[in-house]
Amino acid sequence: MKKHELPKLPYPYNALEPFIDTKTMEIHHTKHHQTYVDKLNLALEKHPELFDKDLKELIRNINSVPEDIKTAVKNHGGGHLNHSLYWQIMTPNKSEREFKGKITEKIIKTFGTFEEFKKKLTEAALGLFGSGWAWLVLNNNNLEIITTPNQDSPLMQNKTPILGIDVWEHAYYILRQNRRNEYIEAFFNIINWKKINELFEEN
Ligand code: MN
Repeated sequence: MKKHELPKLPYPYNALEPFIDTKTMEIHHTKHHQTYVDKLNLALEKHPELFDKDLKELIRNINSVPEDIKTAVKNHGGGHLNHSLYWQIMTPNKSEREFKGKITEKIIKTFGTFEEFKKKLTEAALGLFGSGWAWLVLNNNNLEIITTPNQDSPLMQNKTPILGIDVWEHAYYILRQNRRNEYIEAFFNIINWKKINELFEEN
């Protein structure tokens, strides 16, 4: 039996300044993400055999999860997966921020231009009411922009997330208060296109 653990942040808490501030990163990782991990483990203790299952598979087949822990696994397991991806698709490294690789051709082919892609993803993130995520996902071999409420994962719709913007207020409130638009604009400066290209190519 192996409990789920908080993954180490791949860079220091201050690495994404000035786009995302140190305090936000620290609280987001050590408090919010940690809580999803803890509550996921707590739920799975009621059905310990599920510790041995791949979390992505559990989420993808959420309707097969026992009824008494289904909501907890959806929320906290989803939260754990979503945040684990979120940390990886941002980077302080300038060379990783370059928009290049096979994913660029696919984005241009799908959306026409990078600007049009950015506009669509921004509109989705801004238009989401309440807490949730805006995503770039693979649906079979097609790119789509979708949103999910709360911590729902695109895997629950059989779609593979390759880029996710956390639009819960906890992701931006300290630095930007209610200005979600500023956070989204800032987010576009720190996207790890190298990682997203890898995720695209392996699917
Ligand atoms: Mn979050």
